[in-house]
Amino acid sequence: MKCKLCKALEKEKDKYLYEDDDIVVLPTKNLKGHNKRIMAISKEHVKNPSHLDEDEWILIFIQFCKGYFDEEPTFALCESTYATIPNHWHKIACDWKGNEDIKQLHFTPHRAINTYVRWNPDEDRNK
Ligand SMILES: [Zn+2]
Repeated sequence: MKCKLCKALEKEKDKYLYEDDDIVVLPTKNLKGHNKRIMAISKEHVKNPSHLDEDEWILIFIQFCKGYFDEEPTFALCESTYATIPNHWHKIACDWKGNEDIKQLHFTPHRAINTYVRWNPDEDRNK
């Protein structure tokens, strides 16, 4: 059985930023004032995947985000407390623009993740 979201995902294939066997990444419909706001969603209806799967999906999403938000020093990876997607595991990532949503972020479990480390010891060694 396909839920609304499954059908919506199929219709929005052209918007996919990333896709593998388990998850897709695409921009959220509502940017909420951010320049960039994207989400990773499980392709299957899996609300609570195994920890192994979830860890892997989060790592993949974080790796993707590091490239996607590369003009920012950090981005926010959020739990989906306020989201309205009942049947699929998902995580949201956004930049720190947009005052209204930043206020909401304070009430949403999230963490700031570095997009890159500025100091690279290898670079120094090659000089
Ligand atoms: Zn579904």
